[in-house]
Amino acid sequence: MAVSSGNGLRAVEKAVALMREGKDVVEAAVEGVAIVELDPNDMSVGYGGLPNENGVVELDACVMHGPTMRAGAVGALQNIKTPGRVARAVMQHTDHVMLVGAGALAFAKAVGFEESNLLTEASRKAWMNWKSRLSKDDDWLDDDEIAKDFAAKGGDLPTTKRPTGTITCLCLNAKRELGGCTSTSGLAYKVPGRVGDSPIIGAGLYVDGDVGAAGSTGRGEANIQVGGTRVIVENMKRGLPPLDAIMNVLKRVCDQTRTERLLKSKGKPNFNLTYYALRKDGAVAAASIYKGGTYAVNDGETNKHIELAYLFEN
Ligand code: ASP
Repeated sequence: MAVSSGNGLRAVEKAVALMREGKDVVEAAVEGVAIVELDPNDMSVGYGGLPNENGVVELDACVMHGPTMRAGAVGALQNIKTPGRVARAVMQHTDHVMLVGAGALAFAKAVGFEESNLLTEASRKAWMNWKSRLSKDDDWLDDDEIAKDFAAKGGDLPTTKRPTGTITCLCLNAKRELGGCTSTSGLAYKVPGRVGDSPIIGAGLYVDGDVGAAGSTGRGEANIQVGGTRVIVENMKRGLPPLDAIMNVLKRVCDQTRTERLLKSKGKPNFNLTYYALRKDGAVAAASIYKGGTYAVNDGETNKHIELAYLFEN
């Protein structure tokens, strides 16, 4: 079976099909994720992802393989459409776990990945729209044409909102082997070089081949600060069911969010974070701080979206 974020319905279907063919769990997760990475219409992952504040797309991804407990990751990788595959190559071809920036790109080219421009016309326009509205006092005039263009196409990228989004995919095969991949273009319009939780083992993804796997989407900074997926897997190891294992960490995130600019008036976080967990026996759960959204599951028979559990209504 395979479990993914809401944008991963095609990913879980592909991952299960590959596992049925006998492909390794990490390969299944990576190739499922690659469908979304290569989709220019998903503006939060891979090709077509929203860029950093300079208009450059920087991607983060990682993989982890339960049977061997090996892992690979890339951070702030430019010009390669499928960072999940590069993360897998880091695991396979190096003695390292994580490569970043120029080194990650040089490595990707060395092992045969092709460079390309990751900024689609839609992502470039979204970035220009954000940039043009940053301040009334700078030299960029508000670009109403771009906003109209988006609205005409049914898109509603609000003017200064900074969308986030990520895909995580957790796989369990018939031999009860576990593996996973998480991939993202990160926070839109981020400071160049900013690396979120997605490529960090123990934050964006953690897999313990004897216990289970967990992945995450949402505000990466909050997740890094609790090492969320690592704690979820440890919680499952000491007997908590997957949903309780997640809820425990979501509560921790809320308790540990103490900076005023990150809090709503009632003291709750003003951001969302979602965790996905898959136990070795096939038990599954996913939950967010705030209500809303779905996750994708293929249990070997059906391919479906399921509503996310949550801590707070709103
Ligand atoms: N977790 C991602 C990051 O912080 C973003 C997201 O999932 O929305 O880079």
